[in-house]
Amino acid sequence: VLDGDALVTDPVRMEKYRRDRAEDPGAGMPLAVVRAGSTADVSAAVAWAARHRVVVVPRGAGTGLSGGASALDGCLVLSLERMRGLTIDLETRTAHVEPGVLNVELKRAAAEHGLWYPPDPSSYEICSIGGNLATNAGGLCCVKYGVTTDYVLGLEVVLADGRVVQLGGPRYKDVAGLPLTKLFVGSEGTLGVITRGILRLVPAQRRPATLVATFPTTADAVRAVLAITARMRPSMLELMDATSINAVEDMTRMGLDRSAGAMLVVQSDEPHAAAAEEMAVIETACTDNGATEVLATDDPDEGEAFVQARRSVIPAVEKHGRLLLEDVGVPLPRLGDLVTGVEQIAADTGTRVAVVAHAGDGNTHPLVVVDPTDPTSEERAMVAFDRIMRLAVSLGGTITGEHGVGRLKRPWLDAQLGDDVIELNRRVKRALDPDGILNPGIVD
Ligand SMILES: Cc1cc2nc3c(=O)[nH]c(=O)nc-3n(C[C@H](O)[C@H](O)[C@H](O)COP(=O)(O)OP(=O)(O)OC[C@H]3O[C@@H](n4cnc5c(N)ncnc54)[C@H](O)[C@@H]3O)c2cc1C
Repeated sequence: VLDGDALVTDPVRMEKYRRDRAEDPGAGMPLAVVRAGSTADVSAAVAWAARHRVVVVPRGAGTGLSGGASALDGCLVLSLERMRGLTIDLETRTAHVEPGVLNVELKRAAAEHGLWYPPDPSSYEICSIGGNLATNAGGLCCVKYGVTTDYVLGLEVVLADGRVVQLGGPRYKDVAGLPLTKLFVGSEGTLGVITRGILRLVPAQRRPATLVATFPTTADAVRAVLAITARMRPSMLELMDATSINAVEDMTRMGLDRSAGAMLVVQSDEPHAAAAEEMAVIETACTDNGATEVLATDDPDEGEAFVQARRSVIPAVEKHGRLLLEDVGVPLPRLGDLVTGVEQIAADTGTRVAVVAHAGDGNTHPLVVVDPTDPTSEERAMVAFDRIMRLAVSLGGTITGEHGVGRLKRPWLDAQLGDDVIELNRRVKRALDPDGILNPGIVD
């Protein structure tokens, strides 16, 4: 039932479908890759897999950072990259999107009508809406505008037996039945395959004003973050530590202050006078907490250059070695304990760890660097990776704020959720996927 190019079994061509950006060393070799072109293709592939008890690993653009799209031996990788339909409905201000559409393409299509799709992972130019829905992706503006699920009104989902269901719709209010639409958002391909999203659009964002501040230490920067969040909600509040700043400067030569212990990038998108007021609050919070330099600008290009610097932290740090990517988050009052705790773990284990954070959400990305020239580095990095996740849990936090559990963080999930909640996860999984064929090894 699949057209000629939809089924790939050549091992060479399958290679690029085996891993996501986490480069899981344990990724398996699929039986085949299905490059679905339509919901009917997805349904046929899943129904076939159900009949033959073959595991299905759904895949978007493969930018995931937790090994959620890592292939398993003998599985069917179900790639949604060819499903690229996109329409904007102006009357309901919604976008009807197939999963292979990139986040940036949806943003551009919305912008043509003066509208905006806010969720903005740093990877927005390369990740797909299907992947965003399946991981409940966050991003930089989420501190004010919320994460992917806040924009989901409806989904089309292919269930584990191949049936297709429509959940929700272009309705702003709908409480009929259990809230199943939201159950699938963030379920990492373990409960069903998302083949369409109906997403809410909002009026275009106003041009933001940007403030960049440098600090002697990350502890000073975190105190400034808490002083800001106690007073207001900026439209961006991002933190980079010294290692991140220097890695980005190595790559871009844009003139970042290499001697800074930390840097905050903050934006306000309020209308003019209100933005000025917010900027004044932010500036005071920074200077009161030891900022060594503060730069405020209304120039969108200048502001965007700093945001771009923040977005390029992962590729910049990646130049120094393979990364074990953390995504730990804590309630905001514990952010300082998390960040200084990570620094202590890096020192104890003799490991290089760069910290970049959606600081206003309490969501940090400690990037543990495995030095390819040092054979002992991998083991020490794994110890650091483990201790950072335990630290987050001990602070009342989470092992993953936005990237998902995937296969790489599964060993730490029980410590966060506890036996009862793990069992609840398993019961939901069994109810929707009794044979366990959909992306196993994440919640089961
Ligand atoms: C440089 C960089 C920066 C990043 N910054 C951010 C950030 O700021 N915020 C953030 O949240 N993430 C970020 N990410 C991680 C990643 O881009 C997101 O998790 C993104 O949502 C993944 O989308 P994808 O299309 O690449 O999905 P994939 O990696 O292909 O898949 C991700 C997961 O979703 C499942 N899946 C994919 N499509 C479907 C579908 N249609 N139905 C069911 N399951 C599906 C897969 O099985 C897998 O479990 C970043 C990644 C990189 C490389």
